[in-house]
Amino acid sequence: MTIYALSTPPGRGAIAIIRLSGSHTQKIVEELTGKASPEPRQAALRVLSDPETGEPIDSGLVLFFQAPHSYTSEDMAELHIHGGVAIVDCILEVLSRFKELRPAEPGEFTRLAVLNGRMDLTQAEAVADMIDAETVAQQKQAFRQMQGALGELYEGWRQKLALSLAHLEADIEFADEDLPGGIGQAVLGEVAILKDEIAAHILDDRGRALRHGVEIAIIGAPNVGKSSVLNYLAGREAAIVSARAGTTRDVVEVSLTLGGVPAVLADTAGIREAGDEIEREGVRRALKRATEADIRLHVTAFGEPAQEDEVRFQEGDIYVVNKQDLGTTPRPSGLLAADFYEISVETGAGMPALIAALNTRVQENFGLAERPALTRTRHRNALQEGGVALKRGLERASSGVELELVAEDLRLAMREIGRITGAVDVESLLDIVFRDFCIGK
Ligand code: GDP
Repeated sequence: MTIYALSTPPGRGAIAIIRLSGSHTQKIVEELTGKASPEPRQAALRVLSDPETGEPIDSGLVLFFQAPHSYTSEDMAELHIHGGVAIVDCILEVLSRFKELRPAEPGEFTRLAVLNGRMDLTQAEAVADMIDAETVAQQKQAFRQMQGALGELYEGWRQKLALSLAHLEADIEFADEDLPGGIGQAVLGEVAILKDEIAAHILDDRGRALRHGVEIAIIGAPNVGKSSVLNYLAGREAAIVSARAGTTRDVVEVSLTLGGVPAVLADTAGIREAGDEIEREGVRRALKRATEADIRLHVTAFGEPAQEDEVRFQEGDIYVVNKQDLGTTPRPSGLLAADFYEISVETGAGMPALIAALNTRVQENFGLAERPALTRTRHRNALQEGGVALKRGLERASSGVELELVAEDLRLAMREIGRITGAVDVESLLDIVFRDFCIGK
């Protein structure tokens, strides 16, 4: 069966691209154009007609990709037609009449690419991430993963384990013969290193920050201007600014991009002796949120007593004194100049410096680094399972349990890691990976 789909968004546009993949591709292109299909990978201008009536529909570029040199590894074609609703409908209707053709399922082109070994599962996931990327850092990370950086890391680990397993099995097999002893021990040392490497990778939060946004909590006493700071940074009225204390009763969040990284800015209820139950709940949430956030923006104001230590100032936090238009406040002792900002939301004084500091901080701590980062829960779960198996294997080995059982643990870990790229179990994982794909991809 040959599949087809509109691969550009529906609606009006300069051009629309319809893709075909499968063994009948060439024949269908020839029937639509009434000419021999173009040379592989060479664009040719063709008139597309209804093969039943001979009626011309549109003219456009036609590209043919010969198997296996295509995205799916099958014969493929791209029809670049004018991006009009009626034109697209008309061509799709014509295609639907070919008995050799059927519409593609969501993500089916990429799915074929995986099945035919052109990319692994992490690369397919990166194709979806690439399309969904809304910030530059997300897009860069997705591109790197699409080029195979993450898959190579995991496949490298799997191969290391395969080698360790082979050595261990040799050790088991020839245990009674005159082999230099201690091979098993050397292998276990390597496994221990790998286990730590995996654990460090799981703890590295950059992938999560890139996917879900860096959490920044704005905290401070009522009326110091927390809502005002949030509104200024968000450029819109997300929190109600009021002169009465305790108006922000819940957590108000806005999403923004800092240093190319998505961030979620949360204004929390004023931390103070809360009045009613709702307000107390607000304070509880504020404290929880603030403690768990990636960065805390501690806000106080001119004339206010220094921040109470309800939420500790942690490394990487920023301390802001607002209402600088009313008077200046000296930097509290123990704070670095780089962590202290005097601002006035009212006049805008000091705001550019604060924004620059936030940008740099987010980019330096949560932006891209050389090492590829963990990007999906699916990967995290598999790595955690793999890590558990390695840990168990090492414990068994050190307590003198038979090496066969240790080998079985290594095998289990290998299998879990292999599931990330699809080196094992690819068929059973396809539905999970391609659940969120759009048609035509
Ligand atoms: P929150 O309770 O900490 O969220 O504080 P709000 O943002 O609601 O602000 C409390 C009051 O302080 C409002 O009346 C604001 O207009 C005022 N305010 C905010 N920023 C400034 C500032 O920079 N200078 C002065 N003079 N007043 C400000």
